[in-house]
Amino acid sequence: MQLYTKILLGLILGGLSGFVANLLGIVWLQNLFIALEPIGTAFIRLITMIVVPLVVASLMVGTASLGDLAKLGRIGGKTVAFYMCTPAVAVTVGLLVSNVITPGAGIDETTRDALSAQFEGEAEGALILAEDAPSVIDTFLSIIPRNPIQAAAELDLLPLIFFTIIFGAAVSVVAPNRRDAVITFFDGVNDACMVVIDWVMKLAPYAVFALIASVVAQFGVDLLRSLIVYGFAVVLGLSIHLLFTYGLAFRFLVGLSFWEFLRRISNAPLIAFSTSSSSATLPVTMEVAEEEVGISKSVSSFVLPLGATINMDGTALYQAVAVMFIAQIYGIEMGIVEQLVIVLTATLASVGAAGVPAAGIITLIIVLNAVGLGPYVQAGIALILGVDRPLDMLRTSVNVTGDLTAASVVARSEGETFTFESRRPRPVDSAVDG
Ligand code: ASP
Repeated sequence: MQLYTKILLGLILGGLSGFVANLLGIVWLQNLFIALEPIGTAFIRLITMIVVPLVVASLMVGTASLGDLAKLGRIGGKTVAFYMCTPAVAVTVGLLVSNVITPGAGIDETTRDALSAQFEGEAEGALILAEDAPSVIDTFLSIIPRNPIQAAAELDLLPLIFFTIIFGAAVSVVAPNRRDAVITFFDGVNDACMVVIDWVMKLAPYAVFALIASVVAQFGVDLLRSLIVYGFAVVLGLSIHLLFTYGLAFRFLVGLSFWEFLRRISNAPLIAFSTSSSSATLPVTMEVAEEEVGISKSVSSFVLPLGATINMDGTALYQAVAVMFIAQIYGIEMGIVEQLVIVLTATLASVGAAGVPAAGIITLIIVLNAVGLGPYVQAGIALILGVDRPLDMLRTSVNVTGDLTAASVVARSEGETFTFESRRPRPVDSAVDG
């Protein structure tokens, strides 16, 4: 059985078990599933621990062996352009769906207030976190690390990427024998990271079962039923964005079958779904890009870590629907100007969101304030928190798929031919063969 089939099975079985326990109110079973959570957390930690060595090694090899700094600039330009356009499209899709479905229209005041009251405490927590958010200038400045080791220690990817690119570019211009020594070293580190990922992924089906079963077992289902239309609007928007925006971009800019692409990358969105974290999924994303799709390291090592940090189409789309939902529920009209503001701020808010669970709900506060929904921030967030986890799982899968689509488009535009057949031997395979 293929690994992704096993992961999918773990996911479905975990979901069903948690659901049965929750629906039938079997408390001991619910508690049992909740007690399984540490297994999932252990798995998340195991893949997260490889993020820093993998990003550094692969980005170092990618930039140092480019041998052409102009190419680095070109790849960077295309990536950033892609990462600025697609979230704007995603937000537009989210707005269209919310205008058509009007998810907030059918909820009466009593249900609204009951939902708000249930999650009031957690919403307050999100507000406190958002208050600590740095200003725009500080955000840009923080991309330059004062100490790259500290950035690595704090898993602060953007400054780490910044440092590694500059360092890799410098390595590419030193004397060839020195340069090759550095590249060979980091190539070895990178291969070892891939082997660790292979090992950790063997645990994925069980970890996914534990993660999903514990989430679903905790998930209250009664009051949340009233949020079903809102959830449906988010899911519909995400599906449209996945199938049309990515599907068309892939078909026309890459020229290969989008279905085959999805099949090959499926481990990444499945792990993203189970962990709700683009950053934790990054090692898997990089592995499928290189091993399954055949994207070169010089493209994937740059596009994917950057994408895991700044490219979040799913988050941007979800924020658009969430803002419209909150506005509709409180009867506040969102005209064309407000909706344009949503396009701009949700795009930026998704860039600012970290690739960790529930990050999108924190930067959502920026969007709510920007369109004048400031007075409803706390009650509004409290309203949607109840269904945030499943929506987070879905939007994270879309975020990761977006990163992989971007990497494919950039690789193709650089003349790479990944026929899906040309697989390079894996380090493990070559070790065994040799
Ligand atoms: N969990 C998302 C991610 O890691 C971010 C978010 O929307 O909360 O991509």
